[in-house]
Amino acid sequence: MATLTENVEVKVKESRKGKGLYARKQINEGETILEETPMVCCQFAWNELYKYTACENCLRSLEKAEAMARRLTENPALDLPHLECCEVKVEDITYCPACQVPYCSTECRDQAWAAYHRVLCLGSAREDPEHPVNRLMEAWRNIHFPPETATIMLLLKMIAMVKQDQWLTPEGFRSMFALMGTNQQGIGSSSISVWARNCDDLDLSESDKNDLDKVIDQLYDDLDREFTIFIHI
Ligand SMILES: [Zn+2]
Ligand SMILES: [Zn+2]
Repeated sequence: MATLTENVEVKVKESRKGKGLYARKQINEGETILEETPMVCCQFAWNELYKYTACENCLRSLEKAEAMARRLTENPALDLPHLECCEVKVEDITYCPACQVPYCSTECRDQAWAAYHRVLCLGSAREDPEHPVNRLMEAWRNIHFPPETATIMLLLKMIAMVKQDQWLTPEGFRSMFALMGTNQQGIGSSSISVWARNCDDLDLSESDKNDLDKVIDQLYDDLDREFTIFIHI
C-alpha cells in the first residue's frame, strides 16, 4: 500500500499516458514524497552468499556498520568513529527455530511465517546443497553475476504466498508475476550507508566534520577497491 505526502498528487493529464505523479509545491532534495511497502521482497542471491546478513522479511541490515566495514574491506583492525550512528540492534535479532534464517524482530518473524515461510521453510535442509531450492539458487547464481538486479527467490516467495492461501489469489499471482519483469528494484539498505547518513546529521565543528568526511571517503574508497576486485574474479 502506497502512502503519498500532501506535496504530490496523482492526476491524469493526458488520457493516452494514464496516471502521473505531480508536485503541488517545490520539493526539496531528500524530501520523502511516497512510501510503499513492497508486495514481496528478498535478498539478492550473491549478496546472501557473501554474508550480508539481512532480515529475511524486511531486508533490514543485521550486521553492525563496523563489522560490515571490517568484513568488506578485509581489515579486522578498522575502527569506525561515532558507533552510535549505527542503527542495527543486534539484541532484537531472532531466528526461525526450524531453519535459523534471521529476522530483525519477532514481528518480522511472525509476519513471514504467516505470509509465506510456513511453506518455504527448509528446516534442517537449509544448508543441504542437494535440496531443490538450494540447487535452484546455485543455478541462478551461475547465470546472474553481480551487480544483481533480480532474483528467482521472489518467484518462490510468491508461489509460497499462494500455497499458504493468503490474500494473494492465483489471479493476483499472475499480475504480480507480470510486474516482476518491469518493477524489480534493488535497494541500498546496508548498515554502513545508514551509519554514514546519520554521521552526516551530527552536530560537529567544521574541523571535526572535515575529519569525519575524510574517514568516510577513505572507507568508501576501500570498499570500492574490494568490490572492483570481486566483480573481476
Ligand atoms: Zn525485519
Ligand atoms: Zn524457517
